[in-house]
Amino acid sequence: MRVLVLNAGSSSLKYQVIRLEGGREEVLVKGAVERIGSPGGPADHWAAVREALEKAGEVDAVGHRVVHGGEKYREAVRIDTEVERVIEECCALAPLHNPPNLACYRASKALLGDVPHVAVFDTAFFHTLAPHVFLYGLPLEYYERDHIRRYGFHGTSHRYVSARAAELLGRAPEECRLITCHLGNGCSICAVDGGRAVDVSLGFTPVEGLVMGTRCGDIDPGVVFHLMRARGMSVDEVEELFIRRSGLLGLSGRSNDMRDLVQAAAAGDARARLAIDVFCYRAKKYIGAYWAVLGGADAIVFTGGIGENRPEIRGRILEGLDRLGRFEVLVVPTNEELLIARDTARVVSGTGTTSRAR
Ligand code: ADP
Repeated sequence: MRVLVLNAGSSSLKYQVIRLEGGREEVLVKGAVERIGSPGGPADHWAAVREALEKAGEVDAVGHRVVHGGEKYREAVRIDTEVERVIEECCALAPLHNPPNLACYRASKALLGDVPHVAVFDTAFFHTLAPHVFLYGLPLEYYERDHIRRYGFHGTSHRYVSARAAELLGRAPEECRLITCHLGNGCSICAVDGGRAVDVSLGFTPVEGLVMGTRCGDIDPGVVFHLMRARGMSVDEVEELFIRRSGLLGLSGRSNDMRDLVQAAAAGDARARLAIDVFCYRAKKYIGAYWAVLGGADAIVFTGGIGENRPEIRGRILEGLDRLGRFEVLVVPTNEELLIARDTARVVSGTGTTSRAR
């Protein structure tokens, strides 16, 4: 089966065609459409999908990365009108992420013939979080009525690397306690016990937790009230500050890219060094918390652009953690696309029909 995997962000669309046959998995096509909606790029996600489909050739099924599935979906599902309605409903919870996912589904559905579409949700891996983990300390009505809770994101990545880590440890997933660190532009840490997620640093939105490329991570909500009162900032301005101008970029005043910061810090840039210090400290703090939650860990697993490629950052985060006890350190390149393709093939197996882009 040839599965087209679509992974849409607000201004980019990453795609792959993966062939899964008799236990063999092969990437046939891989590409990205950038600058959607900007000069020089396609006008919208519809045009971006058209571009991707031209490169993709024939496909039997499409797997969509969908960021938010609310509380309803615990695993990948074939998209029908009900699933489409839930994805649309979740746009209110993930206004930056679900709309491009939905746009790409609608475009690929219209442009391809009778091909099954499957949604693989970033939130699904966290359906195992217990209420005392996912609830905030707000009046319970705000959960019951407004659905305010920790949802968690990057679930497909944490699911992939935790399963792979168990393989590398030579154990069944049920026997492993793992702390998985996805450190890319977006960053999160997850506690995985016996193959099930028990806690994760991203929360109601993908802003909570670690310091990220441009997102601030944990912050006292009192800061929001203060900025609105003392600086007269609007809700949109505070949101933009926390999501696009904070994190490594805001702290360093230079870049959201760890490569630039490591280079600048080595050349004596004090702000770049400070940004790295804050980043590593926050990650260490979460690892310590999840060590306590799990009662120890067999391995700390790193993935994502920083986690996979920056040994000095891994080293800084791990400094002193050997005092907690014994654990392995694993670096596992994430592969969300492969997991989306596998899920898609599993969901549609036996039902796919081949079609061309129209
Ligand atoms: P995203 O979360 O957008 O998928 P990535 O996982 O690619 O992003 O992570 C981006 C971060 O990873 C940047 O801070 C970048 O510096 C770092 N990074 C990515 N690739 C490399 C590499 N080959 N060597 C060093 N650092 C890298």
